[in-house]
Amino acid sequence: MRLVSVDRSAIWPYEDGEPGAFVYQRYGHPTGAEAEAALGELEGGTALLYPSGSAATFSLALALLKPGDTVALAEGCYFGTGVLLRALERWGLRVVEFDQAGPPPEGAQLVWEEAPSNPFLRMPDLEAAAAHQAPLVVDSTAATPVYLRPLEHGADFVLHSATKYLGGHDDALLGAVVCRDAAKAEELRRFRTVTGIVAAPDPAYLLLRGLETLRLRVERQTATARELVPRLEAHPAVSVVRYAGFGGLLSFDVADAEAARRVETGVRLITNATSLGGTRTLIESRARWEGDRVPPGLLRLSVGLEDPDGLWADLEPLL
Ligand code: PLP
Repeated sequence: MRLVSVDRSAIWPYEDGEPGAFVYQRYGHPTGAEAEAALGELEGGTALLYPSGSAATFSLALALLKPGDTVALAEGCYFGTGVLLRALERWGLRVVEFDQAGPPPEGAQLVWEEAPSNPFLRMPDLEAAAAHQAPLVVDSTAATPVYLRPLEHGADFVLHSATKYLGGHDDALLGAVVCRDAAKAEELRRFRTVTGIVAAPDPAYLLLRGLETLRLRVERQTATARELVPRLEAHPAVSVVRYAGFGGLLSFDVADAEAARRVETGVRLITNATSLGGTRTLIESRARWEGDRVPPGLLRLSVGLEDPDGLWADLEPLL
């Protein structure tokens, strides 16, 4: 077990006029280095931390793509990823969406998938994507390395919103990229240093703490989700339940926006908030963010660590 305390220093003095392991916080810091080592070990690659999952997405896109390039983006993946990549269209990036259950389109310079997609919970065909000539990024936020290690399935980069399961307590905004190739990681590290898109020591410490209980948490969340899914499926007011079979994230549809609002505002044990992957169960209607990309009655449920019967007792009377 790694015992680390947070070193918040922004500078480390030269030693006899020479730079030591750490010099200036933008270049790297001890707590971040520990957290990167721990996450790299879990994913089987070289990890780099960023101030959020979106910052990781932004940095990776800027580092790997140039004007005129095309990114093939999995349909139905995290809404914010599409918004972010489309914001780069002003700088000449092209974004094409494809069904990640099949092969990515020819001609793309980067393939971006999500395992499983949020909030549709569809898994990518990683073998088909790895066979594509372009580098493959897999956003594995919802799977976590407990259920999937994308680098073992041909991915070149794994992306995490570590704000979610890896941090695990809804108290740290953080992102990560894990690279298959150590030389590529070094390039990204240099790019991170010059752009200044770097994670601070405190969230890195919270990631280390979160990783200590990652497996316990996600296994318990999986067990609870597996209890709730059949109950939701059997409920006459629920038309569709989406679940990848593992992890704590699922979504289901009630009749319409009004019914969804009744559920999300009526819960008491469950919290009506955005985000996922924490110790507390969260529910929200995704149409508020995603508009008509999702059915109006779609509710996303991020299962926490509460008692499954307590969660069902909260939810069922509102359906
Ligand atoms: N990727 C996925 C799958 C997400 O769910 C999210 C956030 O919801 C992000 C990336 C962005 O991460 P962050 O909110 O840490 O910027």
